[in-house]
Amino acid sequence: MLNIVLFGPPGAGKGTQSKMLIEKFKLIHLSTGDILRNEIKNKTSLGLQAKELMDHGKLVPDDVVINMIKSILKKNLNSNGFIFDGFPRTKEQALSLDQLLENQDTSISAMISLKVEDEELIKRLLERGKDSGRADDQSTEIIANRIEEYNNKTAPLKLYYNEQKKLHEISGLGSISKITSRLNLVINSL
Ligand code: AMP
Repeated sequence: MLNIVLFGPPGAGKGTQSKMLIEKFKLIHLSTGDILRNEIKNKTSLGLQAKELMDHGKLVPDDVVINMIKSILKKNLNSNGFIFDGFPRTKEQALSLDQLLENQDTSISAMISLKVEDEELIKRLLERGKDSGRADDQSTEIIANRIEEYNNKTAPLKLYYNEQKKLHEISGLGSISKITSRLNLVINSL
């Protein structure tokens, strides 16, 4: 299986690039943010629990996202692999993901981290907020919370994957197709 963690701060382009990669490599796109937004749309108890935190740019509890991932992994074990988008976001999540994959005799192939500086992220997220309808894209204050959560809890995961020689960092600047080419280069070298 080809299991890629597509990594980077909010607004780095993970969702956009995931769409390109799932087509080319026939992978399953697993975005915890998308799944949570769907739960909110369907007014499930999980959605109601997560909404307040998400609207303020805070991470939802680890056990909530880990359980979501667990059930989706189970249903797709015959696939070519997964693109993990927005997951893992904490060390706890990364450890659980490794365990879940190991139980299925597979593992993370690579973490590819998209590098974009804060000023550009804020610009992109505010622009997206004009039509995304997402509460967390609407204000600089909430965006700042999301970037802070990323820097404090998520960015350290680069070390975790680097220790396993799985970290690949690329620039997230430039046209969508240029960034896709950079990702393809990394994946084809695995
Ligand atoms: P995203 O669409 O990946 O930017 O995620 C939007 C929001 O969903 C985040 O700001 C968090 O509140 C929540 N979320 C998504 N994925 C995770 C995760 N792996 N762990 C904790 N919270 C998450």
